[in-house]
Amino acid sequence: MNLELLTLNRYIIAGPCGAETREQTLATYDALAGLGIDMFRAGVWKPRTRPNQWEGAGNEALEWLAEGKRRSGIPFGVEVGSVAHVAAAINGGADMVWLGARTVSNPFSVQEIAEALKESEVEVYVKNPLSADVELWSGAVERILAAGIERVGLIHRGFSLGGGTEYRYPPVWHVAIEMHRRYPMLKMLCDPSHIAGSVAGVGEIAQRAAAMHYDGLFIESHVEPQSALSDARQQLSPDELRELLAHLNWRKEMSANPDFVAALERLRAEIDALDAELLSVLARRMEVSGRVGEIKRANDVAILQPARWNALLEGLIGRAKSLNLPPDFIRSLFELIHEESIKRQ
Ligand code: PEP
Ligand code: MN
Repeated sequence: MNLELLTLNRYIIAGPCGAETREQTLATYDALAGLGIDMFRAGVWKPRTRPNQWEGAGNEALEWLAEGKRRSGIPFGVEVGSVAHVAAAINGGADMVWLGARTVSNPFSVQEIAEALKESEVEVYVKNPLSADVELWSGAVERILAAGIERVGLIHRGFSLGGGTEYRYPPVWHVAIEMHRRYPMLKMLCDPSHIAGSVAGVGEIAQRAAAMHYDGLFIESHVEPQSALSDARQQLSPDELRELLAHLNWRKEMSANPDFVAALERLRAEIDALDAELLSVLARRMEVSGRVGEIKRANDVAILQPARWNALLEGLIGRAKSLNLPPDFIRSLFELIHEESIKRQ
């Protein structure tokens, strides 16, 4: 293996899905420390969807991780799903703990874990819950912040949307963007491994995160992915991870280039004017809707007219296509507008 130290310009937490054996843990730890990652990750207790699968090596694995940390000087984190996990992780020298998607979906568990973490020094990452629910994710973050934890971060790991897409847990970028808007002070990482679910998709997702507002990656890497006891399909070898990190193009937050700044300002002014126009057109549309509601009421006619709605939507989608607007987008937009219109009537 030819592993040279990279200058990683973002925060990188990497490691195997699970710490399986002392040998596998230390070999992976050493290889990734050699890449210059900021922190090592490994599951010690694995939340498996179905029973009778490998559930992690348990407390013993914390000793292997502590040994890896002593050897490399790189801190480590583990997933916690219960109060007992928190106690063991802290006693075992973990520098970070993360709450997995399944745990974040359950406010009872999050509350208990938050209380167990009270005033501890560990860094805490909160993954998104299984469903694309900003309030559930946000609620979990608030429970952790209320416990007085100083260093809290977020991880977008994708959502259970019931299959039928190319990804294992498809990303819902706007949910993560809304979390970033609510908590701009928290680090936001992307977990391309669980989103993609296969090695082939990891690079593409990581690059999309790098082109957006992410502070770094939370990514799975195993010294021998093909023999991994969990998530074998999505783990990169350390060599593959080095390649990926070396080629990621992290965009900077802003540029001071005066031509860019001037062009951006002009375009933004144009957008602001168009948004103002959109708003006033929407207000006029709603006002006309209200008048339609009045004459329907006066004539005892049903508010919802499915045939009219259908014709309207078909017409709009046809026009959207000729204007190069994605039909799905126009459908969702007008569903919202129509819903509000119905409410007013
Ligand atoms: C993991 O990071 O290995 C894990 C179990 O993640 P998630 O909670 O995102 O499924
Ligand atoms: Mn995993």
